[in-house]
Amino acid sequence: MVKQTIQIFARVKPTVRKQQQGIYSIDEDEKLTPSLEIILPRDLADGFVNNKRESYRFKFQRIFDQDAKQETIFENIAKPVAESVLAGYNGTIFAYGQTGSGKTFTITGGAERYSDRGIIPRTLSYIFEQLQKDSSKIYTTHISYLEIYNECGYDLLDPRHEASSLEDLPKVTVLEDPDQIIHLKNLSLHQATTEEEALNLLFLGDTNRMIAETPMNQASTRSHCIFTIHLSSKEAGSATMRHAKLHLVDLAGSERVAKTGVGGLLLTEAKYINLSLHYLEQVIIALSEKHRSHIPYRNSMMTSVLRDSLGGNCMTTMIATLSLEKRNIDESISTCRFAQRVALIKNEAVLNEEIDPRLMIIRLQKEIQELKDELAIVTGEQRTEALTEAELLQLEKRITSFLEDQHPESKLEVGTDMRKIHHCFHYLKKLLNDKKIHGTSIATSEIKDQNSQEPLKEEEYKKLRDILQQRDNEINILVNMLKKEKKKAQDALHFSSVDRSELRRSQSSPFPPGNPEGPGMLPPSAPTQAPDSSTSQYRSSLLHGKTGMREEMSLGRQEAFEIFKRDHADSVTIEDNKQILKQRFSEAKALGESINEARSKIGRLKEEITQRHVQQVALGISENTPVPSTPDLLEEKLRSQLEEEKRRYKAMFTHLKALKVEIEHLQLLMDKAKVKLQKEFEAWWAEEATSLQVNSPAVNSVNHMKPFPQMPESQHERSQLLSNKSDVYARKILPSPGPLLHSQEQSSPSTPLEDRIPEKPVSSVPLTGDSRTDSDILAFIKARRSILQRTGTICMSGPVPVLGPYQ
Ligand code: ADP
Ligand code: MG
Repeated sequence: MVKQTIQIFARVKPTVRKQQQGIYSIDEDEKLTPSLEIILPRDLADGFVNNKRESYRFKFQRIFDQDAKQETIFENIAKPVAESVLAGYNGTIFAYGQTGSGKTFTITGGAERYSDRGIIPRTLSYIFEQLQKDSSKIYTTHISYLEIYNECGYDLLDPRHEASSLEDLPKVTVLEDPDQIIHLKNLSLHQATTEEEALNLLFLGDTNRMIAETPMNQASTRSHCIFTIHLSSKEAGSATMRHAKLHLVDLAGSERVAKTGVGGLLLTEAKYINLSLHYLEQVIIALSEKHRSHIPYRNSMMTSVLRDSLGGNCMTTMIATLSLEKRNIDESISTCRFAQRVALIKNEAVLNEEIDPRLMIIRLQKEIQELKDELAIVTGEQRTEALTEAELLQLEKRITSFLEDQHPESKLEVGTDMRKIHHCFHYLKKLLNDKKIHGTSIATSEIKDQNSQEPLKEEEYKKLRDILQQRDNEINILVNMLKKEKKKAQDALHFSSVDRSELRRSQSSPFPPGNPEGPGMLPPSAPTQAPDSSTSQYRSSLLHGKTGMREEMSLGRQEAFEIFKRDHADSVTIEDNKQILKQRFSEAKALGESINEARSKIGRLKEEITQRHVQQVALGISENTPVPSTPDLLEEKLRSQLEEEKRRYKAMFTHLKALKVEIEHLQLLMDKAKVKLQKEFEAWWAEEATSLQVNSPAVNSVNHMKPFPQMPESQHERSQLLSNKSDVYARKILPSPGPLLHSQEQSSPSTPLEDRIPEKPVSSVPLTGDSRTDSDILAFIKARRSILQRTGTICMSGPVPVLGPYQ
């Protein structure tokens, strides 16, 4: 058992502006525990009563300042936890802090760069690397991904996520067994045999989370996400299994709202936006107080799920994420205070071991067989499962003659075969019952006498029967357990087969086998695994499933999508990643070629060495001189060349492996960005279509036009326009149609747009009643876009003065 308090770390997010200096300082004296001092800025402190403290000091295991890299965070925080999970202990890492302080960045990672990978992908990578190295044990890894939003749990890996909205999905519920062990109903477990499979699951969950999010349901700031790696291990031949769970938790934003309103906001008693975080705090307070017997775990789903991680069987680590800007001072202080309380909690982690029922059955069966064999040797007769007809008949005859024999010393000899003994009892019982039924009384006293003559034998029989019964029960229980295990395995298999069948359906793969662009061009004999095309197919099928629209898009919509994509702020990142990906592909290709060359060179060198050796031996024989025990100069040279080539090969191979992981990751990032883009386009498109329906045929819907998400560069222009021109322009282009125009429009809904725009005519925009096609919508959008671009209003994002349609 390992007793340990929850480890607390702090991470400060890089600030955008440099003016934050002086707000905090980090004291990292080698001998002391590092501490973080938060200093209240003068102007904030002045406004408060005199006894207000001006600085606050908090101790942490370690504090990571703004420049800390993801790699450092992993090495110092996550790696030790991953190691204890590999050793069989439960582990939890959770990030706590206000929205925007870097929780998701720390736990999952940034969506743009490979180097921004967070704790989850790095931990997966580390764990799988260790599993590969350790051949002494057999490991199995499963993944689950749970989201808790508004006290309801959702399975982020549920395939139904694609088609259903959050509300329609089956909820994950918490069940507690009599031993107070928590079980989660409706949360699927997916086996991952490689790092790649596990990463795919992570990205699938993240994409599902993004898809389910709407402006009304800002799940990413209000929900908790728990990514769990379930690791089982067993030494070969042993029946003992070890189970360990690693929870990686991205909590909801911890921001609080003051009860007292804006006036006394700073450092006053505050309430959480998120109720379950409030319950988490209550659990933490209860745990940190001595002599508290009741811990209110059951108040919320999150505290129930993380029950073991808090004050239980787990090694737990908390990362307090801080965004130390002036306006966030109060939230940062709350976060640090929370961490100080968490640091008081003691956990007791134990090894979770259990006996594998399958192996136990095998053992018992073996034992039974051995005993049977032993018995056969002792009795000299081979046992079959049941007694034969002839044996039964013979036995019954013996019983009858025994019953008929009036001699006081007569005996019933059946030997030591338990089956025969049992049959005798059954037969006697039957006889007795039959006689009772027929009303003929039997001299039971006779039997009693007989029995009492041999009390020992009777007792022995009973004992043996009990043992037999016990064994039967044991086997039944084990068989049931086995059935359950089998079912679980079948379910997992079913899941993966569903996934696989989805794979087969998808078509495009950026890494097809044998594609000369990828390292897949290596011959099958090359000791590298060619990148599994199924993974990328899986991703593309996922993308299709999520958006499910590219093929069905009408031409108009496709065109609009192209424009939308071009103008979208994310397109730069996508483009950048595409370039990097291309570069990595060609690097991988070149490396693949060099590896192949190195392989053939190694082959050649080996051959040369053998030849040289043979030559030496032949020479020795022909000259009748002994073969030198050490290789000659030439052979030595060849050998060192061979060693050098092998080293080179190994280095290149490792590099290629790393490249493969990076390529996979980049592809996943890009797929995610694409899904996001399509989702935003769909929303924008639907909005435009509605606005067209609602406002048509009035042209002044220009005011309702929402611009495409623009490139950041346009923001400067935008704000300028907003401040001085927009009002004028917006008014200027509006036709201010009077009652006359109103009636005109009603009478002729298909009036071309230009007729209704006096100042900036636009060529034919068909608006035909309600049955507008996508190309109509596109043409309409284009027309409005061109008006807006000419007038400058396209850049407006703030509230535009809305002139009612018929002012
Ligand atoms: P949270 O999950 O706490 O709401 P995020 O992780 O989403 O916050 O972070 C908010 C923004 O800040 C994101 O754009 C993220 O990329 C960025 N960010 C957070 N931490 C860091 C960091 N250490 N380095 C660089 N960018 C960061
Ligand atoms: Mg987040």
